[in-house]
Amino acid sequence: MSRGTMKAAVLRGWNDLAVESIDIPQPGPGDVLVRVRACGLCGTDLKMVKGAFEARGWPPSLPFVMGHEWSGEVAALGEGLDDIGLAVGDKVVAENHIGCGRCPMCRSGRYNLCEKAGTPGYRLYGHTAPGALAEYAVRPAPMLHKLPDSVSPLEGALVNQGSLTVHALRRVAFRPGSTAAVFGPGLLGLLTAAVARAAGASRVIMVGRGSRLDLAEAMGCDEVVDYEKEDPVDGIRRLTASRGVDYVFDCTGNPTVPAQALDSVRRGGKVALLGLTGGTPSSIDVDRLTLDEIDLLGIRSSPNAYPAMISLMRSGAVDLGPLVTHVYPINDVAEAFDALENRTAIRPIVEF
Ligand SMILES: [Zn+2]
Ligand SMILES: [Zn+2]
Repeated sequence: MSRGTMKAAVLRGWNDLAVESIDIPQPGPGDVLVRVRACGLCGTDLKMVKGAFEARGWPPSLPFVMGHEWSGEVAALGEGLDDIGLAVGDKVVAENHIGCGRCPMCRSGRYNLCEKAGTPGYRLYGHTAPGALAEYAVRPAPMLHKLPDSVSPLEGALVNQGSLTVHALRRVAFRPGSTAAVFGPGLLGLLTAAVARAAGASRVIMVGRGSRLDLAEAMGCDEVVDYEKEDPVDGIRRLTASRGVDYVFDCTGNPTVPAQALDSVRRGGKVALLGLTGGTPSSIDVDRLTLDEIDLLGIRSSPNAYPAMISLMRSGAVDLGPLVTHVYPINDVAEAFDALENRTAIRPIVEF
């Protein structure tokens, strides 16, 4: 494929994101060039724009193209991919973590925790390697998963976050017939509720505020607790005869929530943290955790979870349609970030 240029949203400095024309990346051996169809923006992107993850090396240098929640269409295959099962025109979604493949974590399937993070063999696309807020992106073929025709490119842009919730439910070994509370009716929280419901939750309680709680009910929550009207721990205890829920999923990234989550779970229950606070410390009641044998789990990325999420969408067990509400052309990417910051959009998606 001949070299050409493409539009991309380029982070040039902190709080300085601009749409520029840059070279289309070229697929090397084993790589696939993908025409990006849709790319969602999340809180991590917003924090990266502001430089909140500078110390972490996200991005490692400027200028940088972000974007890690996306779907597209195969545009060209690099050398050596004759039997990979992908063809030009296939709809795909991409994972972001590629580990070294050789360290103990990679070899045990936990490539999201690759021990070579920070070295050249390890890449986290959209964070340490170029993202997909651009018309084209190149990825190693194993990072791509085919999307069925019944899933739109816009819904495809939600697979990344959906897969994270699949990983969370696996990490807590979610049991059918159990109860869950989700803190944070943002995209991640709403997806967690929907996937927990698909996994056999008997009851899902959402904690949040405002109009987003209406959407929580549409996504399969049985009850909501508005923390502007009631203390969230009191609310969950009220709804569970003081017992607490079996599982709590903190999808907020708010440093005050882990303590509330611990107070909302039953004795012997499990708390999963899915958000990042951007480096702000959080304090918890260690005695409560220890004496009530609560499992506290960090959830990072979505290793081996994309196929399951895609299957849940294909089968209709999870319907992401209600979550696709705010779509922008690339030229309006600044407006899309504003919608994220002002909380007017659950998930702004840039469509190409
Ligand atoms: Zn994200
Ligand atoms: Zn590794």
